[in-house]
Amino acid sequence: MRVYSIPMRTRFRGITTREGMLLHGPAGWGEFSPFAEYGPAESARWLAAAREAAEEGWPAPVRDRIPVNVTVPAVGPVRARELVEESGCRTAKVKVAEPGQGEADDLARVEAVRDALGPAGRIRVDVNGGWDPDRAVRMIRLLDRFDLEYVEQPCATLEELALVRRRVDVPVAADESIRRAEDPLRVRAAEAADVAVLKVQPLGGVRAALRVAEACGLPVVVSSAVETSVGLAAGLALAAALPALPYACGLATLSLLEGDVVTDPLRPVAGEIPVRRPEVDEAALRRYEVDGAGGAGWRDRLAAARVELDGVPGRVVS
Ligand SMILES: [Mg+2]
Repeated sequence: MRVYSIPMRTRFRGITTREGMLLHGPAGWGEFSPFAEYGPAESARWLAAAREAAEEGWPAPVRDRIPVNVTVPAVGPVRARELVEESGCRTAKVKVAEPGQGEADDLARVEAVRDALGPAGRIRVDVNGGWDPDRAVRMIRLLDRFDLEYVEQPCATLEELALVRRRVDVPVAADESIRRAEDPLRVRAAEAADVAVLKVQPLGGVRAALRVAEACGLPVVVSSAVETSVGLAAGLALAAALPALPYACGLATLSLLEGDVVTDPLRPVAGEIPVRRPEVDEAALRRYEVDGAGGAGWRDRLAAARVELDGVPGRVVS
């Protein structure tokens, strides 16, 4: 097992470096990169995903290219247009409800993205739970003049999502509301969303995520946890194995990192990522490898997650 730390080009979740471990097994490399605030119980699912990748591999794909979205952060309209045009993507996810910005900023950004994509492109907005229900209803109606594909996590709670969903025509997607395997069933029971955003590591692997997708019965958008290409390959494998994939996925996140650990990184070409599993590059991995105290901290997190997963201290994945 190896520990990496890669600087981020863009601050995300308040972090400026992405850290994690890569585990090697008979099926290849797996990534274990729970965010710093996650304790052993939550991290155990991330470890299950890494083990599946390293020890078993993934189910057979039913498609060989995955359409992906460009993400437009809370930038001004000129930069928003540039990001979309540079990306080659036909779907854009636009961040809105940024603290310190006003509604006019959101409208100007989404308008610029519609201009850049043309009428055939798709636009989803991601609110990260930032609106209360009344504001959500008003803003969704205003922003839908630019034709929204869906609105992601307009409010924080399931009850609020359900309330908004009943009052607008734009489909609602649940993202932050889905962090554990049982969450999509809660989303469905609450009639809180039309679309489920699923991530492989928090759900415990590709097979576990496929079971969640089947159980919740909603169309799925596969998203990354801002991983290296080792972790992104698992997201691609999930997107490739789903029976239906009606939406572009949120797997074009490598551009958030300064570097990667593989020879041929999983970057989109003309708005799609070909389904494949890149090889870890020793020189690239050494460039971002951490030893000493940082490495020891990750070994402790892995050991704690392993105890949660196996019940007893288990064998070391080498
Ligand atoms: Mg989101």
